[in-house]
Amino acid sequence: MSSLLTTEICIVGAGPAGLRAAIAARDMGACVMLVDSEENLGGQLVKQTHKFFGSRGQFAGMRGIDIAKLLSDEVTKDSSVTVMSDSQVVGFYPDGTLAIEKDDCLKLLKPQRVICATGASERMLPFPNNDLPGVYGAGAAQTLMNLYGVRPGNRVLMIGAGNIGLIVSYQLIQAGIDVAAIVEAMPYVGGYDVHARKIQRAGIPILTSHTIKAVHGRQVVEGATVSAVDAQFCIIPDSDRYFQVDTVCLAVGLTPLTELLWQADCKMGYIPELGGYTPFRNENYETTRPGVFVAGDLAGIEEASSAMIEGEIAGLCAAKSLGYEIDDFEDRINRAKTELRVLRQGPTGEKIRQGIASLMQLREECEGA
Ligand SMILES: Cc1cc2nc3c(=O)[nH]c(=O)nc-3n(C[C@H](O)[C@H](O)[C@H](O)COP(=O)(O)OP(=O)(O)OC[C@H]3O[C@@H](n4cnc5c(N)ncnc54)[C@H](O)[C@@H]3O)c2cc1C
Repeated sequence: MSSLLTTEICIVGAGPAGLRAAIAARDMGACVMLVDSEENLGGQLVKQTHKFFGSRGQFAGMRGIDIAKLLSDEVTKDSSVTVMSDSQVVGFYPDGTLAIEKDDCLKLLKPQRVICATGASERMLPFPNNDLPGVYGAGAAQTLMNLYGVRPGNRVLMIGAGNIGLIVSYQLIQAGIDVAAIVEAMPYVGGYDVHARKIQRAGIPILTSHTIKAVHGRQVVEGATVSAVDAQFCIIPDSDRYFQVDTVCLAVGLTPLTELLWQADCKMGYIPELGGYTPFRNENYETTRPGVFVAGDLAGIEEASSAMIEGEIAGLCAAKSLGYEIDDFEDRINRAKTELRVLRQGPTGEKIRQGIASLMQLREECEGA
């Protein structure tokens, strides 16, 4: 083990939230260390070959992979941000020390502030043989295809018709892989119409009110049974359909990656609309543990646009709490908060608005108890 490293602000996670937090904190003059477990900076963006929705201020219309490059170039344009890639933060000790694993060695870092932007993990589903080789998270299949150029299989059954299920299905087709069907337990398609229409034009059936019942195969996936479900999500007898596939992809939701925050004893609430356990935080994205900030999917599953804006707020506020000042601090904060409000307007933002309201209410109840 090496000697104790120090920095003013450590940002854990170099996805859109962490990269924007690093730029904001650097702009304020703070000394920043950005740590990510992957070799490439950009988080989920590095495998997103499609054009993003969101706000124009947050690069809507650009491909995710290009946004990742733009933000990474900005972070690495000079030496003001120290980047530690291929480095996993594995521990957050009570005194604020972070344990970082790199090249089978453990480094200890004592930052004055921490911004956690670790993103989210994919959810699993319980069904017989869900551990057979050939059952993937949709994001994992996307990583294989778009990052490593490896086909995850030849014929895929996709479970989940939210945006991730629809987008990854389309990318599978682009990679020359057959998609047998998309299966969705809800009676409607959850993803955007524009993605669903592309899938339907490609001739792929979307089976709503259906679920996966089992996967079959001895050593690897050889097929899957799908059944219809009623309004209570109970399987309807005699509704089984068999699909001959070698791959099953699960796109059934994401959960904030909160392990480090549990270790840091940050208080959290279970908020289904935000993806599960979500950290309590104030309007500056500071958690209940002073000096620990959050941003992005970790603070509630949303999109890259909101992740970037939250990163900007967390980066500015973490640096400000260390005494750094810039002339346009208030302007930048107010612009960011307004942009977040605009993004969360309308019917598509309703779930997030409800989730944030529940989180704030739960926090007040816990503080008052
Ligand atoms: C298939 C798909 C399509 C999408 N399409 C869109 C879209 O069209 N528009 C849009 O706005 N959004 C889209 N999104 C969502 C968007 O990608 C995410 O909301 C966004 O990437 C979240 O950013 P983040 O920085 O919070 O997390 P991430 O991008 O997940 O980045 C988190 C980073 O933290 C690192 N990390 C995690 N734990 C540790 C640790 N312990 N130590 C070190 N590093 C760690 C990870 O390696 C990762 O690089 C899509 C997502 C998917 C999966």
